[in-house]
Amino acid sequence: MELWRRSTALAVYSDGIVGVVRAAHGYINVRPQALLVAAGAREKSLLFPGHTLPGVYGAGAFQTLVNRDRVRPSERLFIVGGGNVGLITGYHALQAGIDVVGLIEILPACGGYKVHRDKLARLGVPIHTSHTVLSVNGTREVESITIAAVGPDFAPLPGSERSYACDTVLIAVGLDPVDEIYRQAKRFGLSAFAAGDADEIAEASAAIFSGRIRAVETARALGKETGPVPDGWVRTLEILKSAGGAVFPPERPPAHRGVLPVFHCAQEIPCDPCSQICPQSLIAIRTADIRGTPAFLGIERDVECTGCARCVTACPGLAVSLVDYRSDPESPTVTLPFEFDDSRLGSARAVTALDDEGEVLGVYPVLELSARREGTSLLRLQAPAAVAPRIAGVRVQPDDVGTPFSSSVSTIGDEIVVCRCERVTVREIRALIAGGCRDVNEIKAVTRAGMGACGGKTCAALILRLFREAGASAEEITENVRRPLFVEIPLGAFAGVEGDEVG
Ligand SMILES: Cc1cc2nc3c(=O)[nH]c(=O)nc-3n(C[C@H](O)[C@H](O)[C@H](O)COP(=O)(O)OP(=O)(O)OC[C@H]3O[C@@H](n4cnc5c(N)ncnc54)[C@H](O)[C@@H]3O)c2cc1C
Ligand code: SF4
Ligand code: SF4
Repeated sequence: MELWRRSTALAVYSDGIVGVVRAAHGYINVRPQALLVAAGAREKSLLFPGHTLPGVYGAGAFQTLVNRDRVRPSERLFIVGGGNVGLITGYHALQAGIDVVGLIEILPACGGYKVHRDKLARLGVPIHTSHTVLSVNGTREVESITIAAVGPDFAPLPGSERSYACDTVLIAVGLDPVDEIYRQAKRFGLSAFAAGDADEIAEASAAIFSGRIRAVETARALGKETGPVPDGWVRTLEILKSAGGAVFPPERPPAHRGVLPVFHCAQEIPCDPCSQICPQSLIAIRTADIRGTPAFLGIERDVECTGCARCVTACPGLAVSLVDYRSDPESPTVTLPFEFDDSRLGSARAVTALDDEGEVLGVYPVLELSARREGTSLLRLQAPAAVAPRIAGVRVQPDDVGTPFSSSVSTIGDEIVVCRCERVTVREIRALIAGGCRDVNEIKAVTRAGMGACGGKTCAALILRLFREAGASAEEITENVRRPLFVEIPLGAFAGVEGDEVG
């Protein structure tokens, strides 16, 4: 197979040709026998006053800076969106030494897995559900955010506004498939397939199985002998892309002797490393697939847990603690996973212990912080037997980090920009919608929204949201006609100009 790197598919044309800009070759036309689109996803945007201020980031850009480039772009971060991406990014920010002032989620509960939500809560991040962003405030850059509680209709509740000092706001409100090329190819009758996020938004492990399945289907479309797609792949894909399931009340150890692992993992999710890692096979997920919650088998089998802590370090949700009653049953030790350097513990060597929901249980002495094992250290505390099994984490940022200003800051948003390329404002588009316009193409013709270099990738979804806000039903609205090109490209690429001259 030939792999073309640094090459971008720009468009599909009605005659079945795909336009590609290929490194060192310039623009070329390809006529594929079959097309497999695995172009991933793009992040959704939100409209609010201040959404274009420097310091408002999408989660992908923020994660690239922090995780790949090792840049700390923020001191005080506020997160909008409680899906897995927002929750995980919050944890990465804490690891990078950034204080996370808070996270808001407009729904009554975070949509991400509960272990990811709890991971943030039990490190001391305030999580505000049923809240939305009213504005991000600042003159030249982000200085604060103003949020408000919402009612059942998601409208902000007057009087509930609160503002928090922050220098960065992370928008993590979901992803849209990058499927323009796929949809256009289907429209023009090509043999086309979509895999991974371009097909359905899920996680990386699901994208791998989706890719395997579509690869077989694509090979078959090319006339290859493939055999059927294995049922196991289809089933695994279904499991891996499933949302979090039922939440069960936390199970606490029934006995106070020996060493007991405690699972702060109360929701059905596709995850099972804890059940694979125990050298004594004392942890099991007793459901038909890996989505059940873990259980400790030591008591029913009368086999002692050795306290090796492998289950503590193996859990990606940091959701296993060990309570060791052997030396003092009244004041056992609690071992927790810890993925920070010890500067996060402060000099006092006593930590504020939190439960699954982030409620403070007390301040307890640190006995030891072990060297890292595969990136995870073990933090050992001593705590009274009555609270020890409930300890799920320790606060790693100042107590007052989530304290709001005494009065809220408001920014009026008449001129919020919807189309960044052509600087078209909410006011202009709302006026057209209020005047009866129901056609996105008409809005484009009148205001130039969506006519810019990006091809309407961000503003198209935002304009649809303004229609919904005005009460227009989906059936009334004519969406914009998708035309090539789908990817920004310097004009010189078509003239065969290369390198710096291409623009
Ligand atoms: C901020 C963020 C954090 C995430 N964190 C996690 C996580 O912690 N764990 C997890 O499991 N999942 C996570 N995900 C989800 C995960 O990244 C995706 O599910 C996974 O990458 C999807 O794989 P894919 O191959 O479908 O797409 P991608 O990995 O996005 O790959 C798509 C590729 O297509 C290329 N491409 C796009 N358009 C074109 C074009 N026109 N021509 C040629 N090439 C093109 C892109 O450059 C890219 O290389 C996260 C997603 C985001 C956005
Ligand atoms: S601490 Fe070790 S022995 Fe005990 S349950 Fe965990 S992995 Fe098994
Ligand atoms: S490894 Fe086990 S305890 Fe940890 S999140 Fe997965 S299922 Fe839950």
